[in-house]
Amino acid sequence: MRLYNTLSRTVEQFQPINDGAVKLYTCGPTVYDYAHIGNLRSFVFDDVLRRTLESEGYQVKHVMNITDVGHMTSDMDEGEDKLESGATREHKTVWEVAETFINAFEKDSAMLNILPPNAYHGRHAPYARATDFIDDQQSLVQTLLDKGYAYPAEQAIYFDVGKLPDYGRLARQDIADKEVAARPEVVTDTDKRHPQDFALWFFNTGRFANHSMGWDSPWGKGFPGWHLECSAIIHATLGEPIDIHTGGVDHIGTHHTNEIAQTEAAFGTRLANFWVHNEHLLAEGRKMSKSDSNYHTLKGLIDKGFDPLALRLLFLQAHYRSQMNFTFSGLEAAQSFLRRLQAWADLKFQPAALAQNAGGPAYGPVLRKMRQAMADDLNTAAALVSLSDLVAEAEENGINNEGFQELLEAADCLLGLSLSSREDVNEDEKSLLSQRQQARHDQNWQLSDQLRDQLSKKKIGVKDTPAGQIWQRL
Ligand code: AMP
Ligand code: ZN
Repeated sequence: MRLYNTLSRTVEQFQPINDGAVKLYTCGPTVYDYAHIGNLRSFVFDDVLRRTLESEGYQVKHVMNITDVGHMTSDMDEGEDKLESGATREHKTVWEVAETFINAFEKDSAMLNILPPNAYHGRHAPYARATDFIDDQQSLVQTLLDKGYAYPAEQAIYFDVGKLPDYGRLARQDIADKEVAARPEVVTDTDKRHPQDFALWFFNTGRFANHSMGWDSPWGKGFPGWHLECSAIIHATLGEPIDIHTGGVDHIGTHHTNEIAQTEAAFGTRLANFWVHNEHLLAEGRKMSKSDSNYHTLKGLIDKGFDPLALRLLFLQAHYRSQMNFTFSGLEAAQSFLRRLQAWADLKFQPAALAQNAGGPAYGPVLRKMRQAMADDLNTAAALVSLSDLVAEAEENGINNEGFQELLEAADCLLGLSLSSREDVNEDEKSLLSQRQQARHDQNWQLSDQLRDQLSKKKIGVKDTPAGQIWQRL
């Protein structure tokens, strides 16, 4: 399998550290509000990566955190804690806010067929919540203090980036460049030795004096900085080095750079062999974001009549490393494509749709081609082309039932489109269908039209082909 590694800026051959299992870590959502579909694009990408690894025969140990503390409105420690502002907005406690939006995230993930993480089994599994790892985060801070990579100031304990000669390696930025880029007006704590120094532990003092979250610590009551949780959770659950670390491209410059700094300084090992980042979903040409008005939620799309799997399919049509501009016409086209795929999968229930020619299309080569495309840096678009060629062929000549269900199952393992688990029409619907077939046979067009209307009220369409009547869910 080949994967693009942000560390080397090239597509590399993927080789796991241990033959047994692939350790995969994903930075999860900050649960102060509903995820927007840009965030969800990023989690669909993780899911596609995981499914591809599994279909290549790897056992995948997947951990995802939930950020429920310490994420400021700016990734650089400035602004307000997102959870605290969520609580003010919702008139709830930070704990209630986290609970509400974790549940919403779990539901969105399920509707998009995103597999839940599988390698963390502790409190609140399957997700590793930052607030469930306070001890681990504190002990990481202590290690960094002991090793001289951290220093206490009045507002926070900071990581001293000047102590790491290759800080910024992932983003290919050296500290001098970043210094120029850092806007002085946003760096409010003059106690920082260097503008890029970042908080490991904030104290409940000054601007955080009324912060509702706080834990006792050897250095004073406070709460962890955002970057700390991922290093601590990886250490506690998977153990570094891990095989693959994922997240959106916006994490490269600060969050992932800081995760690497913490882990390498504390444990003297690499954090991850592969860093794989997904590009952004745009809307109106700009990055979709909560701070802009250009975002949509999954629930909003469902309310407009869209199937969540149409959104998943839309994401699969583009490569994860290219930006994608979200439009409703694009989503509508994806929904039509999804309906075509579903109609094709439903042909297995319909004798009239079976290929007349002995044998019919063989599925092995198509499946191999799809797997090859996915193993080539997750070329989902190419895998979909193989599938849609097969659909076009079936629309002409019917399907070969031999191996068809197995093909649908294998395609689902890879793409997660729920094509293999669709249901046949029920007895009632079957009876209407056969009455209609009889009416046509009797040339009773009036009755046949009436039955078509009845079926269409049940959201079933019918098509008359030379081989007979075929139904399709509308
Ligand atoms: P957050 O909840 O803000 O921590 O973000 C969750 C994930 O969504 C991160 O991996 C971000 O990089 C990613 N993300 C945020 N905005 C977008 C976007 N417009 N398109 C794709 N991914 C995004
Ligand atoms: Zn992270």
